[in-house]
Amino acid sequence: MQIKPRWMTPELETFRDAVRRFVAAEVTPHQEHWKKQQHVDRDVWDKGGAMGILLADIPEEYGGSGGSFAHQSIVFEELTYAGDMAFGIHVHAIVAHYILNQGTEEQKQKYLPKLASGEMIAAIAMSEPGAGSDLKGIRTTARRDGDSYVINGSKTFISNGYMADLVVVVTKTDPEAGAKGVSLIMVETRDCRGYRVGRILEKIGQKGQDTCELFFDDVRVPLDRVLGGVEGKGFTQLMTELPYERTILGVSGVAAIERALDLTITHTRERKAFGQALIEMQNTRFVLAEIKTEATIARTFIDRCIVDMMEGRMDTELASMAKYWISDLQCKVIDQCLQLFGGYGYMLEYPIAQMYVDARVQRIYGGANEIMKEIISRNL
Ligand SMILES: Cc1cc2nc3c(=O)[nH]c(=O)nc-3n(C[C@H](O)[C@H](O)[C@H](O)COP(=O)(O)OP(=O)(O)OC[C@H]3O[C@@H](n4cnc5c(N)ncnc54)[C@H](O)[C@@H]3O)c2cc1C
Repeated sequence: MQIKPRWMTPELETFRDAVRRFVAAEVTPHQEHWKKQQHVDRDVWDKGGAMGILLADIPEEYGGSGGSFAHQSIVFEELTYAGDMAFGIHVHAIVAHYILNQGTEEQKQKYLPKLASGEMIAAIAMSEPGAGSDLKGIRTTARRDGDSYVINGSKTFISNGYMADLVVVVTKTDPEAGAKGVSLIMVETRDCRGYRVGRILEKIGQKGQDTCELFFDDVRVPLDRVLGGVEGKGFTQLMTELPYERTILGVSGVAAIERALDLTITHTRERKAFGQALIEMQNTRFVLAEIKTEATIARTFIDRCIVDMMEGRMDTELASMAKYWISDLQCKVIDQCLQLFGGYGYMLEYPIAQMYVDARVQRIYGGANEIMKEIISRNL
């Protein structure tokens, strides 16, 4: 039950219809299979590329579809409405924005068209076994050696890690220089000596998404793979680009809230107890009334964020608010909805159960919600 966003246009409605049909035909039928194998099939990337939904908001001159953040948001919303948490377009689009906004012209020309077509799948590798929230504590190094960087270290929890052809790796090019010694280096993984993908991690939810450990053992890449062509800018690049990621998490979170409400209204209309439908009980109606109100508040807020993104005005603080507040609300609402399903809500064949386990990580990845509050509190 989506309240029509204020940014919606007839052209975007047509785009949404097309994305919805694509998801119904190319994503939904494969969800169970993807969960079992812990990753999507390669061909959905090719099909997504042909359809123009992988990089919907990247300019056409770089192979993207030339749309706005509203187009890209519609893609994330439609995947969420269909209950998909496997097809990693989110991280893929995030990486594309790093390259678009921070890369050299040559890097943009080289990688963006391949990411748009699905020829290359992208991942971003920040987190390490010893450093997640505290990114300054990373230990992966990229040492200059002649005309190459030599990368050593390991990363964990990397989304799209099993399938990625291009990994943006957060490294220390100068371990003594603190934040100024951090550089983002692009590693092409095909036939890359010293690069190894560890096991696909066993998660409580999002089982079709390939979240992996990555290992770098004397991986050599040319010097021109440093994002933006200059060393030591990695930390600033991360801080500049993280709002895009956090806004996306908010967009998906609101769509999940809307879906949970829809599913629960349908179920409580159909399910009977004590001679009446569950929805006729005052408690059920009050809970759903509260959720509908909160869904409306969340939708209003995220629509403002989407417009800010479209107009290039999104800032770190607002993106942090969206990420933390919406993901907290998402988990609370889905829990309340699950309760109204009774025992069926605990059965994975019911989508609300899947949503419950899929949602939990929204409060952790993209920066834990506590880190979001740290960021917001800096400007009090
Ligand atoms: C499914 C999944 C997918 C992921 N995908 C990616 C990816 O594609 N790329 C990538 O680089 N990373 C990815 N991550 C990693 C994710 O970003 C980190 O898990 C997250 O940033 C938290 O880091 P951590 O796990 O090391 O927790 P820690 O840093 O150990 O923090 C643990 C907890 O401590 C608390 N905490 C930490 N610092 C503070 C503080 N300053 N103040 C108050 N409380 C604090 C918070 O509650 C936090 O949740 C993914 C993780 C998961 C689970």
